[in-house]
Amino acid sequence: MQMYTKAIRNIITIKKLNEMKLHRTKIYFRNFAHMTITFLGTGTSQGVPLIACRCPICASVDARDKRLRSSVMITVNKRNYVIDTGPDFRQQMLREQVESLEGIVFTHEHKDHIAGLDDVRAFNFINNWRAQVYCTEQVAAALKREFAYAFSDRKYPGIPEIDLCIIDERKFTVGELEFLPIQVFHLHLPVFGFRIGNFAYITDANLIPEEEFEKLRGLEVVVLNALRREKHPSHFTLDEAVAIANRIGAKQTWFTHISHQLGLHEDVARELPAGMFLAYDGLKLEVGA
Ligand SMILES: [Zn+2]
Ligand SMILES: [Zn+2]
Ligand SMILES: [Zn+2]
Repeated sequence: MQMYTKAIRNIITIKKLNEMKLHRTKIYFRNFAHMTITFLGTGTSQGVPLIACRCPICASVDARDKRLRSSVMITVNKRNYVIDTGPDFRQQMLREQVESLEGIVFTHEHKDHIAGLDDVRAFNFINNWRAQVYCTEQVAAALKREFAYAFSDRKYPGIPEIDLCIIDERKFTVGELEFLPIQVFHLHLPVFGFRIGNFAYITDANLIPEEEFEKLRGLEVVVLNALRREKHPSHFTLDEAVAIANRIGAKQTWFTHISHQLGLHEDVARELPAGMFLAYDGLKLEVGA
């Protein structure tokens, strides 16, 4: 009799679990009203202030002139997704009090966008979560070089646990978010920008090919890199970024990946056209899905 009861209880438990799973799946894929975009960092590869620099921008006391390396976090239904994990990833996760991640998506393999990946170990240990990393074959090859110990056949205990999911120019889904890659160029290096609903993020580009503009129609918010005023071989200057922003015609444009050479946040922000803004670390935007 006792065994019978136990068996029934087990069936009920399994049934309940299945229901819970179904319920969870339903929640997972339901439409969300908005997403929160958090600018984890808005600085160029060396960050601002630059080590040993004594310029007025690096000496500024305005918090908006303190720029960690560029990346953003998208939060939907309390679930977090990050685009890039630069050298300041640990500090950014601590500052924003992030307790879990659903996925990490990479734009390209430059050090200032991947260097912090080792710190996913905290999420590995605490949440028992293998980092779900989405990137192209080319970026995956770079990750395997840079973090060879994490991908070695003979694993040392305590190394980062990472699952690589290879993406190409086609749409892909991470949790409840659908990412549409935008192929842009960073001198000769292919870089992915991403459109997620009415939001698009394009960092490290000095060229958006003609055919990609189609994917950037009707945006509520676009983020573009704007390094400095002087010409640069692999980044948009502020003027170039403004021209691209005018062409895209999003309701709001936010500039990121900013160098100390651009000027003080307050001065530059004042001269921007309507609907265009300089992003800063810790800035949060609500974007309709
Ligand atoms: Zn960069
Ligand atoms: Zn400086
Ligand atoms: Zn780069």
